[in-house]
Amino acid sequence: YGHKIKTDELSFGKGKTSKDKANRATVENVLDPRTIKFLRALTKRGIISEFNGCISTGKEANVYHALAGENAGGTSGELAIKIYKTSILVFKDRERYVDGEFRFRNSRSQHNPRKMIKIWAEKEFRNLKRIYMSGVVPAPQPIEVKSNVLVMEFLDRGDGAPSPRLKDYLYKDELEIARYYYKILAYIRLLYQVCRLVHADLSEYNMVVHDSKIYIIDVSQSVEPQHPMSLDFLRMDIKNVNGYFEKLGIELFQERMIFQFVIA
Ligand code: ADP
Ligand code: MN
Repeated sequence: YGHKIKTDELSFGKGKTSKDKANRATVENVLDPRTIKFLRALTKRGIISEFNGCISTGKEANVYHALAGENAGGTSGELAIKIYKTSILVFKDRERYVDGEFRFRNSRSQHNPRKMIKIWAEKEFRNLKRIYMSGVVPAPQPIEVKSNVLVMEFLDRGDGAPSPRLKDYLYKDELEIARYYYKILAYIRLLYQVCRLVHADLSEYNMVVHDSKIYIIDVSQSVEPQHPMSLDFLRMDIKNVNGYFEKLGIELFQERMIFQFVIA
């Protein structure tokens, strides 16, 4: 994942060595001083032991690899750290997911961008926890959330690299394609019926194949069934999944059949 960075080495000083320069570049591009402060605190508390390079750079967040500290809890020893960008504009169009959501309705922070990002990370943490605790839909174990920093179990391929997204996964055969398709439809239903969540951004980009199982990730925008747009989001999720499997050439269920299957 590029060069390794210890959180205590992250500095804003006018370093003269190339390492200082590399750290400063990392810092300037993604990590603001407050974020670094939170990472240091997580290191002090023994959650993180070593902060490594970037796994993914997204529009709203970057995901980093880290090694777990002695207090991280029962995980494999590796962590994925999702850091929401503190830039303001990105979160503008996300308000509709939180607006009308019962769990956040009375939040006075809704129009303060920095607080909004914190709410967003906490929302992902809570949704992830709900899914993980349900035990019926695979998801990475949530470990900690602090402001815009979310710490979770790292889904590894075995050789240190992250497990592939469904988009990048190479299927063994057609039977496996069909198996994963049916599994995902079952997971959409279990998410709805057991976890009481609609993913709301489900696609081959937000599912990871790990240990021959489909893991659901990226649940910050997920909503409860009582959200006024939950069924629209659900239809969209189903459409995305069918669109992906259509390209793989297997026989599909009709979207309205899947919709009934999920909510019934
Ligand atoms: P974004 O909002 O940028 O889409 P995601 O939560 O989807 O954020 O994470 C981006 C990418 O990082 C994922 O597509 C996946 O490849 C990788 N990733 C995220 N969480 C984990 C994890 N727990 N273990 C391994 N890789 C992960
Ligand atoms: Mn994603």
